[in-house]
Amino acid sequence: MIKLEGVHKRYRSAQEAALSEISIDIEKGEFVFLVGSSGSGKSSLLRLLLREERADAGQVFVLGKNLSDISGAEVARYRRNLGVVFQDFRLLPDRDVYGNVAFALEVLGKSRAFIETAVPDALRLVGLEEKANSKPASLSGGQQQRVAIARALVNRPEILLADEPTGNLDPDNSLEIMNLLERVNLAGTTVIMATHDQGIVDRMRRRVIQLDGGLIVRDSQRAGYNDQVGGEA
Ligand code: ADP
Ligand code: MG
Repeated sequence: MIKLEGVHKRYRSAQEAALSEISIDIEKGEFVFLVGSSGSGKSSLLRLLLREERADAGQVFVLGKNLSDISGAEVARYRRNLGVVFQDFRLLPDRDVYGNVAFALEVLGKSRAFIETAVPDALRLVGLEEKANSKPASLSGGQQQRVAIARALVNRPEILLADEPTGNLDPDNSLEIMNLLERVNLAGTTVIMATHDQGIVDRMRRRVIQLDGGLIVRDSQRAGYNDQVGGEA
């Protein structure tokens, strides 16, 4: 479903490569943690998958598309298959919860009838039906992130990309978000989540891809945050 082959990425303004020699295969339905310290390349990898950035070398295939070969309208169409969640929620402050989730469908030109079914479904999924008419500012951080997840999922994407989705949340809210992402994954959505929250990774025991200075230093199944492949402490 996702395949990277020998991918390199260096930003024009940067001396060092953000990603080097990245080769990864991700199957439909996997839950993958991207871990590594700040600056290791996690967000850059997610941006390649979103086609916000392009690889300088190597190939990125997602859902049967070579992302180097698509442009313009095709990129927009491609992105409809992806849901995205960020650390800082990125909700529209002037719209209520319903309006934030509906917005994702409005920009896709979905019919009113579709929106009127899909939005309540998505809010039910994240347990926020009763907050439909609340503004984001009146919600807790965990609730705001659940709205962002509802928005990411309302068009039923095949892949959910989450960049440090628990980075601004306390442990209880983080746990709630992880339970939600786990449910979403069990329902069939492929989830790729960048994080440096060791507790979460250790608890979930999923595939862990660890980056260091833009290189993959570990790719292991049912892993913890600090498990070592090479035996180093
Ligand atoms: P992470 O998400 O793991 O913190 P990033 O992917 O954001 O890592 O960054 C990887 C490297 O690329 C870092 O050295 C960072 O400074 C650099 N970088 C990230 N985004 C940009 C950008 N837009 N322009 C130039 N350099 C960038
Ligand atoms: Mg990042």
